[in-house]
Amino acid sequence: MIQDLLASNQAWAQRTATLNPALFARNAKGQNPHVLWIGCSDSRVGESCLDLLPGSVFVHRNIANLMPYGDLSSLSVVQFAVDVLKVKHIVVCGHYDCGGAAAALGNKSLGILDHWLKHLRDVRAKHKDELGAIADPKARLNRLVELNVITQVHHVCRMAPVAAAMKQGRLVVSGLIYDVSSGRIKPMEIPADTSEEDYDLYDAESEFEH
Ligand SMILES: [Zn+2]
Repeated sequence: MIQDLLASNQAWAQRTATLNPALFARNAKGQNPHVLWIGCSDSRVGESCLDLLPGSVFVHRNIANLMPYGDLSSLSVVQFAVDVLKVKHIVVCGHYDCGGAAAALGNKSLGILDHWLKHLRDVRAKHKDELGAIADPKARLNRLVELNVITQVHHVCRMAPVAAAMKQGRLVVSGLIYDVSSGRIKPMEIPADTSEEDYDLYDAESEFEH
């Protein structure tokens, strides 16, 4: 198996160098990506669908493209991408037929994975009525995928480095959906984040002030 991977890599490196003679010499000097791609770990879905060369896209992938507030890995990637690499665009890309989303729609215990999927089950709970009204299981799953992208875009926008860069007008955050049956991505319309209203974050009687 490893021999196959090594042979495949050598063929790729040779082909890429032939098509882009300056690429590897340029990459040896450092990276200057303009995009941070946040996507699912699913083997069918990756930033390679953008057809960009190595050095173009900074990448963070995990199961079901989640960006929980307390996740040190996600936060570190975002801070580095925004403050150091100064990417101009962050994309959160979900995909139809996501196994993580399918698991989150069920109630079966999955061990360690339950801790991670809790974030997605929270999205499911918040949109229980809308999801419950969809009779077709596949359509329900794909709607959860879309609602998850919206939620994760909101999470990313609320991260301090992102909020600051957006205020300066040097960063845009977008949501995308990848269709595994066609290889195509489409933009997701992102409604305004109403979490502040939900939680009444600016209550003057906050207990922290006493
Ligand atoms: Zn997935």
